[in-house]
Amino acid sequence: MKPFRLTILGSNAAFPCHGRLTSSVCVQYLQDYFIIDACESVQVRIQQYKIPIQKVKAIFISHLHGDHIFGLPGLLNSFSMHNRTKELLIVGPSGIKEYIETVFRITQGHLFFPLKILEINPKDRKTVYANKNIQIKSFPLNHRIETTGYRFNEVLSDYNIKKNAIQTYNLSVDEIKRIKKGENIMRNEKVVDYSTLVYKKAKPRSFAYCSDTIYDESIVEDIKDVQVLYHETTYLDELADKAEERGHSTAKQAAKMALLCQAKQLITGHYSPRYKYVDDIILEAKTIFKQTLKGYDGFILDLIPEE
Ligand SMILES: [Zn+2]
Repeated sequence: MKPFRLTILGSNAAFPCHGRLTSSVCVQYLQDYFIIDACESVQVRIQQYKIPIQKVKAIFISHLHGDHIFGLPGLLNSFSMHNRTKELLIVGPSGIKEYIETVFRITQGHLFFPLKILEINPKDRKTVYANKNIQIKSFPLNHRIETTGYRFNEVLSDYNIKKNAIQTYNLSVDEIKRIKKGENIMRNEKVVDYSTLVYKKAKPRSFAYCSDTIYDESIVEDIKDVQVLYHETTYLDELADKAEERGHSTAKQAAKMALLCQAKQLITGHYSPRYKYVDDIILEAKTIFKQTLKGYDGFILDLIPEE
């Protein structure tokens, strides 16, 4: 099985405290690594969890609040000092290019590898990265400033055709190609379902990152049927008013979202610094969505294919 692993690098909101850094997640698929958000000191976590910096393909930024980007210049500088030479893609809302360029200009820093910066409109829903194994899509979140969520979808190879199907239906080369892609064919004016002609394959694995955002049902379609959902749980539900005012969600709201989109698992995070211990947040989410997992700095989850 190809590894599809999440590592939480930071799980706090606003500023680092209680042993928690602010927001950052690493997604590994096979030999490719992706970072979402770059909290202050993220480079320390990257060393701590032995994330191979030469294999980081891209960094995705959700929005330009400091607790999500204060670690980005330091991380890039660290990559350079560790002799990275390969191009790095950075995806984020407009302003990210100016932020990076300004910091490196003022500090007279220099990177020894090329940066490719893709500024996106956070209101768009589009594919921002794709290779033969993984496709990454952006979708709008609803926060105080323009914010983007990201969804990682595994791309599985074509179906394998059952040997006897070729003989039984005397399949042409073109038909074989279509069946492998999951298309039906016609025989004697009747539809032959492709699924009867191929071996079953596992459901593609997927992960969605929703931080920061208020509870917003307009994103349900974007995260529909996702296997693992990371949704911010900044507050307990007793602070629902504050959550709305600050553009955040409560544990209950995140759990409701996991239920609505039919996720298999929910990971919590982006905890307000007011909570030294976050177990009540997990318990509150679990009252609505049982498969809630406590996100914390250093939390690792391997995505297992569903039946
Ligand atoms: Zn924010």
